[in-house]
Amino acid sequence: MPFVDSHCHINFPELNENIADVLAQMRQNEVVSALCVSVNLADFPQALALAERYPNIYASVGVHPDYEGVEEPDVARLVELARHPKVIAIGETGLDYFRLKGDLEWQRARFRNHIRAARESGKPLIIHTREAAADTLRIMAEEGADKAGGVMHCFTETWEVAEAALAMGFYISFSGIVTFKNAKQLKDVAQRVPLERILIETDAPYLAPAPHRGRLNQPAYVKHVAEEIATLRGITLAEVGQCTTENFARLFGLGKNYWQNY
Ligand SMILES: [Zn+2]
Ligand SMILES: [Zn+2]
Repeated sequence: MPFVDSHCHINFPELNENIADVLAQMRQNEVVSALCVSVNLADFPQALALAERYPNIYASVGVHPDYEGVEEPDVARLVELARHPKVIAIGETGLDYFRLKGDLEWQRARFRNHIRAARESGKPLIIHTREAAADTLRIMAEEGADKAGGVMHCFTETWEVAEAALAMGFYISFSGIVTFKNAKQLKDVAQRVPLERILIETDAPYLAPAPHRGRLNQPAYVKHVAEEIATLRGITLAEVGQCTTENFARLFGLGKNYWQNY
């Protein structure tokens, strides 16, 4: 029964320094693959190094909206870095009006560049949005993000926002937040998104799912996210694993049973 962690940061030191153990835990829990998501250009080489070293690890390239004052990527640079065969996505990118305040025009400009790069490179987007749903959807529409496709990662918005993203062909990814008792609205969204558009993720090292809440997260724990979705939808854990693994392969252009070669 395969599971894939569609979004994690195993290049961050707290996980990277124990990478052999992180990968062993994945194997023990049937987590066959993980996408290591870049948050800025300075950390991209570490993410890529993991993807080059381990067949079942993939990387993305992008600059997260929470990183102010770092090296700004233009479209050509992102397209160039995304040419590597193990770089399967552009991001994470998007808007975050929760962590940063003030004039965030630079965030919106950076987001537009990522969408343009995704369209040009043919690699899908990983979108982060926090307290910025209306602007996120507006810029996605203005820049033709539907032509690139992608995923709304660590989704915490309303069903209406999910519907708008689904209408643009996007997938919705659920993190450990969906396992939290107080996440009522999110549990409702997780019941309504079509199964063939759901991805699961940890966003490790952050946001460990129950019963590990508050501790260091790791890709192996993505199974708890799958368990919660299975419970909410009244289907088996195997169905959630199979379906989300196939969804991951479809979105990122990997063969349907790509993970069986590892
Ligand atoms: Zn994020
Ligand atoms: Zn992330």
